[in-house]
Amino acid sequence: MDCDEVLEQLSDFLDDESRDELCRAIKAHLADCHNCRVEVDSVQKTIVLYRADRQIATPPAVSARLRELLELAYREARMDAPAE
Ligand SMILES: [Zn+2]
Repeated sequence: MDCDEVLEQLSDFLDDESRDELCRAIKAHLADCHNCRVEVDSVQKTIVLYRADRQIATPPAVSARLRELLELAYREARMDAPAE
């Protein structure tokens, strides 16, 4: 999987939490790829900010899934996840 694929698949992944295989592929890529970690991190923050701005309840499934994905990726890369 390359960077473009990861970012393309990300929305599919967010739409369907049952895609374990996709989750693994994305996570494996994120563990090796700093650029995509940064990208996913900014997507996650954007979702949170977007919702907060509009006073829409944060969609727990989506932001939690992204958060979890990032934490796993950082753990696999043996790095600390960035602070909130
Ligand atoms: Zn990448």
